[in-house]
Order: sequence, then structure tokens, then C-alpha cells
Amino acid sequence: VEVNSSPNAVRALIQQARREGAIAGVVPTMGALHAGHASLIEAARKDCDYVVSTIFVNPTQFGPNEDIDRYPRTLDDDLQKCEAAGADLVFTPDTSQMYLPDAESDVRVTGLTQKLEGERRPGHFDGVTTVVAKLFNITVPDKAYFGQKDYQQQLVIRRMVMDLDWGIEIVTCPIIREADGLAMSSRNRYLSAEDRQRSLVLHRSLMLAEQLAAAGIRTAEIAARMSRLIEAEDGVELDYAVVVDRSTLVPAADDAETGVALLAAKLGKTRLIDNQELRFR
Ligand code: AMP
Repeated sequence: VEVNSSPNAVRALIQQARREGAIAGVVPTMGALHAGHASLIEAARKDCDYVVSTIFVNPTQFGPNEDIDRYPRTLDDDLQKCEAAGADLVFTPDTSQMYLPDAESDVRVTGLTQKLEGERRPGHFDGVTTVVAKLFNITVPDKAYFGQKDYQQQLVIRRMVMDLDWGIEIVTCPIIREADGLAMSSRNRYLSAEDRQRSLVLHRSLMLAEQLAAAGIRTAEIAARMSRLIEAEDGVELDYAVVVDRSTLVPAADDAETGVALLAAKLGKTRLIDNQELRFR
């Protein structure tokens, strides 16, 4: 796999491939790759002729009290995973190659970014949309791949691409889980053995939500039952558990046919998110 950290060189390589008729797909990541990331690269490999993954731990999407300093960096292993999953090119810029020190521009989505993750992590989505906008402008892909794991993030990016007429097809890929149900995340490696066991309540609460939805239980009641289950688990600090509309993230109406259960919780210092789309009876 070809590896390049220069925005201009990467732009030229992809432009060349597209000029030769290739459909180009990009998979943005922050590295510390796992099978969830690999599934995005594999999906891009199936759809596209030229597959680019990007590895950049974006400082502007971390809050002042968040974990950027301890965020895992495993570049050699990441490059092997990119190669195995079928990437043609890995873009590995450092911060000085991505951001001018005197930059005065950013990209901001309003509305959607003010709820849930955006409310708890002020400025987070501004960092995400700005870096994804920059990655789109550097890579100029036909398609871009994101995980449903970050449910709100893929909605925000879809909104940005529509509002700004980007003409890039956004593909959302299913959540890849460990065998016991925990959604794969680069942050899972921080969990103590005890917290790793406790974390299973998150997936259990989503399975409960699925059962209750299928049984015709009201959406507010589903959210309340999820919250109760999670709050009953020692050492798990619930942030939110909600049942909302799949595109607006406002609480799902009682006569809705579909929705999504979204949750966030802290175990020790580690904050985890997960979600499950629901079909109501
Ligand atoms: P990150 O490196 O955490 O910024 O994630 C990069 C991309 O991988 C994002 O689009 C995530 O939604 C996606 N992703 C992370 N974890 C998973 C997972 N368990 N299953 C599917 N996609 C994932």
C-alpha cells in the first residue's frame, strides 16, 4: 500500500486515478484501526476502483478535557490493516500539514450538532466537519465511508454534503461488534477487565430496546427502560439513552414506524457510545 503524508501529493495521486476513469472512495479514520475500520475499507474496495484511507488524529475535534494525549497511535499496525483490507493509498498527514497556524476558516453544521454528542462535547462536531471538509477537498472522492457506530456524525456529514453541494456519496456501514456484543472502538483498549465486563450492559440495553419496540411499547417507555437497565450496573455512569427519529434526532413519535436508540455512558475515564436502529410494531 502506498503511504503519503503530503496533501498536495495525495490530491495529485487521486486526481490521476480519477482522470484514468477510477471511481475513488475515501475512508477517514483516526488510526488505532480495528475490524470496524477494516469493514469500511472493505466496503470501499467492493464499490470503488481506487481506495484511500486517511489516518489523522484531529486535534480540533477533542475538547480541552478529552483524551487526545492518550489517544492510541499504532501506525505500523494500521498500515498493515489498511493493506489487508484493500486500500490503495493511506494519507497520513501530521497536524502542521493539515492546519495553517493562522487559519481563520471552518465549516459548521447547526441544528443537528446541538443535540446529544454536540451538547455534551461543545465544538466537537465543528472539528469533525472542518477536518472532513478538508479531507474531501484534498482527496476529492466520489464516495466516502463512515460507520453507523458514530450515528450522529454520519448524519451531520450527510447534512454538510447536501447543504454545500459536495456531490460526494456518503455510505454508512453497519456497526462491527466484538463476539460478546460490545461495539468495536479504539477506546475499548482503555477499559479495565472489570469495566470491559460491565460495558456489556450497553449492548444489552439496545437489545432490550429492540425487543420492546417489536412488542409495541411506547418510545418514551423504551428509553426509560434502557436507562434503568444501564443505571442499575455498578461502575457505569449513564450519560443519555434516547429513542429518536433516525434523521432529525428529535424524540421519536409514538406512531413512528422506525427510530434509533442512541446511548452514551462512561466507564471509569472511558466514554463509550452505541446505537441500534429500531422498527416499531
Ligand atoms: P474513528 O477512527 O473512531 O474516527 O472512526 C473512523 C470511522 O470508523 C468512523 O466513520 C467510525 O464511525 C467508524 N467506526 C468506528 N468504529 C466502528 C465500528 N465498530 N463499526 C463500524 N464502523 C466503525
